[in-house]
Amino acid sequence: MEFALFCTKVNILILILALCSPCKFIQSPMDFGPSNLLETKSSASLDFGRIVFNSPSAVLRPQSPRDISLLLTFLSASSFSKVTVAARGAGHSIYGQAQALDGIVIEMDSIPSDIYIHKKRDDESGFSYADVGGGALWVELLEESLKLGLAPRSWTDYLYLSIGGTLSNGGISGQTFKYGPQISNVLQLDVVTGKGDLITCSPTSSSELFYAVLGGLGQFGIITRARILLQDAPPKVKWIRAFYDDFDTFTGDQELLVSMPELVDYVEGFIVPNEQSLLSTSVAFPAHLGFMPEFHHVSSAKVYYCIEFAVHDFQPEGTSAEQVVEKISKQMSHMPSLMYSVEVSYFDFLNRVRMEEMNLRSRGLWEVPHPWLNMFVPKSGIKEFKDILLENISPNDFEGPILIYPLLRDKWDANTSVALPDAPTGGDGVEQVVYIVGMLRSANPASSAAWCLDDILRRNRQIAEAASAGRIGGKQYLAHHPSLLHWRDHFGRHWNRFAARKNLFDPLGVLAPGQGIFPRVP
Ligand code: FAD
Repeated sequence: MEFALFCTKVNILILILALCSPCKFIQSPMDFGPSNLLETKSSASLDFGRIVFNSPSAVLRPQSPRDISLLLTFLSASSFSKVTVAARGAGHSIYGQAQALDGIVIEMDSIPSDIYIHKKRDDESGFSYADVGGGALWVELLEESLKLGLAPRSWTDYLYLSIGGTLSNGGISGQTFKYGPQISNVLQLDVVTGKGDLITCSPTSSSELFYAVLGGLGQFGIITRARILLQDAPPKVKWIRAFYDDFDTFTGDQELLVSMPELVDYVEGFIVPNEQSLLSTSVAFPAHLGFMPEFHHVSSAKVYYCIEFAVHDFQPEGTSAEQVVEKISKQMSHMPSLMYSVEVSYFDFLNRVRMEEMNLRSRGLWEVPHPWLNMFVPKSGIKEFKDILLENISPNDFEGPILIYPLLRDKWDANTSVALPDAPTGGDGVEQVVYIVGMLRSANPASSAAWCLDDILRRNRQIAEAASAGRIGGKQYLAHHPSLLHWRDHFGRHWNRFAARKNLFDPLGVLAPGQGIFPRVP
């Protein structure tokens, strides 16, 4: 275990821990060196959002789950100050969720990722799976599992996120309609609770903890290891884009695609606020193609919509992906001659945002503020929500993609901690389709949007409030709320369960202070 110390506030605690721990333990500021120290301190107070910068008092780089358990056991057994602890995965939060003001940040990447792949034999029942450290990145798991021709079933668009970080939220991408979010594809977890207990949990053992932690915003425990379901990986993927100039036709085709999971493997989509935005939006397809569809447009202010879908290509087994795409596209209603397709390796398909990252980095546009807003919106409110969105953005200075695609409610386990919008009752029963909408905006300091980060944040709040109101009934994903009252509202009828789980697993409110839900109990 290594500690970097920044002020004396938690030094006493760390010295006590040093005496208790059998392992290599402390690096004092002198051992660490001033430049290293500053670097560690600033990285722990920085995230992808670049909006909130809360400095911790100390950074822990544990070598094993036991190091984490020791720290949390000590904090929960003593009335030591008001020290809080945040696990930090890849630090890709937007609003400081992995930060701990004057507390301790645990850098999860210091625990060895130790990826073990179990490939199911033909004569064996059960599943192929991977056991992987909570601080490992999804891209590491992909690389390792592909060596055996396997891969996880459910993804995020970007792979340089940690296993523990996405499982604490949900983990959504174009495969979610088919397999559910990443949290629906976990068999078992090793967790250190806020009280310091090291527990292996699953749907059949310590299930309350298992379901609490999945989508639990880091509130109940720290995931140190996860068992993730795997499936056969296709060698190649057929990747298709189709364009629309009518919103109802666009969503109609998206809903058609998600009703065909036996043919389709991935469905997403995005809004093209005007033709120019295709140049500034993240639309890598793949990046080196310089993809630029011809709209033959009538008006430069026109809004377009794009569906992106993919079919796994297992050739020469069974029907070719080409034939499957042909069969599907006959049923679609996109603008004539506005469908494009490419074939890429499975790895390149899943890693597509990395290429966009490299492109943005080279132009100095990656390390800028990202005032993102993600919302779950029930199907019944999606058109109204789209109108609110478009009223609140100026297409000429909006930088970044606006993703919009359908998910299916029954692929989410209601026992997990994620708050989905309530299903409307009456009519013909539960409305299955819920849209995820991501306004993934960059506030480029060099552009006109830069001067108004506060203004963008204020507009985001207005959009989120309008969308959460009665008629639309949306809920934030990767939520950021200003008060306990807002959080109660966010969890709605599940608030009592969420609060009871907190009381059970982290009663002193030590964990994940950056989410701003529960105060630390002295
Ligand atoms: P961090 O920012 O490090 O932590 C997030 C929260 O989880 C914090 O509260 C932290 O304390 C807690 N935490 C971290 N590790 C653990 C652990 N081991 N145990 C318990 N709690 C922990 N999300 C999607 O669903 N789909 C996407 O397609 C998608 N694409 C993205 C693309 C980019 C470029 C970025 C920046 C984000 C994207 N996200 C996406 C959001 C992403 O899933 C979340 O921000 C996620 O939390 C990031 O993981 P992380 O490892 O960076 O987490």
